[in-house]
Amino acid sequence: MEKRIGIIGGGPCGLACAIELAQKGFDVDVYEKKNWPIYKVCGEGIMPSGHEILKGLGIFKYLDQSDFREFEGIEYYQYGIPATKANFEKNKKGIAISRIKLSEALFLRCGDFSNIKLHPYTEIIDTKSLDHDRIILCEGIRGKIKSKLNLGSSINQNRKRMGAHAYFNIAWANKFIELHWGENIEAYITPITSNKTQLTILWDENKVKPRGKNYYFSILKQFFPHLSQFTIDKMDGRVSSYGPFNTKSRCIQYGRYIFAGDDLYFLDGITGEGITLSLKQAKLLSGLCFNEENYKAKVFNHISNYELFTRLSLLKSSYRNFRRFGLNLFQAFDKLFPYFLKLNDGTEELTRKEKFIIKIFSIFINKDYRPNSIL
Ligand SMILES: Cc1cc2nc3c(=O)[nH]c(=O)nc-3n(C[C@H](O)[C@H](O)[C@H](O)COP(=O)(O)OP(=O)(O)OC[C@H]3O[C@@H](n4cnc5c(N)ncnc54)[C@H](O)[C@@H]3O)c2cc1C
Repeated sequence: MEKRIGIIGGGPCGLACAIELAQKGFDVDVYEKKNWPIYKVCGEGIMPSGHEILKGLGIFKYLDQSDFREFEGIEYYQYGIPATKANFEKNKKGIAISRIKLSEALFLRCGDFSNIKLHPYTEIIDTKSLDHDRIILCEGIRGKIKSKLNLGSSINQNRKRMGAHAYFNIAWANKFIELHWGENIEAYITPITSNKTQLTILWDENKVKPRGKNYYFSILKQFFPHLSQFTIDKMDGRVSSYGPFNTKSRCIQYGRYIFAGDDLYFLDGITGEGITLSLKQAKLLSGLCFNEENYKAKVFNHISNYELFTRLSLLKSSYRNFRRFGLNLFQAFDKLFPYFLKLNDGTEELTRKEKFIIKIFSIFINKDYRPNSIL
């Protein structure tokens, strides 16, 4: 059995892969250009299936109850008014946690394994120096190695999506993550502890053109005037931005290289699925112990489902009428939104009929990972 694995990138995906593989007896090196714990712009809401995988990774012994908050579902707002909301399935909860806390807990958990070697401040420029049997590329959306290997490609879309986020010393009582819809722009409110709440904005730079030093607050004022409690004086730290999100790898696996996380594919943060998807891939990688055909097929299913739901949400963002139609539908049929959440998150538990329906939709909507196009 191939035993030595090199992982490039120590974000949630890289560290989760390391823990999963170490549990299966592999020797793992993780190379990270920064030092842990690592911060990144993110909505910081993790879906129930991601929450379950984090439990399995054993990171909660390194977290206090006050380090995170569980949430029960998603609530949509339109022009400041609650439009519709959906609970996750019974007994399932998402988890809202700052990236620093998540990174720290994963990092500490890696320390429990003598077969994981962490290499901070080690940017890999050229993989020739790595003699591992397998190399898992988890560099995130700005990964340079896939371009070097000539395996990078741009995402098929005519948007230029950007994200910005900040923390606020505000206690937010809602047990749902709030998504406030605007025109080509969305605001996410995620309470991450009992007295700290974060607000992430996602927008299309081609349509919304934020300018100036205080662009984040001018956006809030212009598009979300009802969120007036999020003021500069309540901000904890500073505003950070990220984007555009426009790269993917042209394949899932190539020779000894295997892609995972955002390095493999990241279309948008609009559905809050990125970390969960990374964790699912990490689990698959270890579970299948590099039976690559299975890994490729299963990962392919995950990505095409993610692409489908993300593209549907992006349509809602770009087209007012589509958004109105979608929200009206969710209001009229109260089981529909929870069902969509289940489809979006519960890919492992879908019936054959549900999988078939998703596949049919994918044919019309997906542009990047169409069925039968595994490279
Ligand atoms: C605005 C926004 C909001 C989001 N909201 C959510 C959300 O609410 N919920 C959710 O689940 N997901 C969300 N996401 C997505 C989520 O942030 C990503 O899916 C997740 O970070 C992917 O993890 P990763 O480990 O693949 O990549 P990253 O977190 O980007 O980690 C990659 C790591 O690799 C390191 N690295 C890169 N190149 C090298 C190199 N050559 N050598 C060594 N190290 C290297 C980097 O320093 C970095 O630490 C959001 C994303 C954005 C942009």
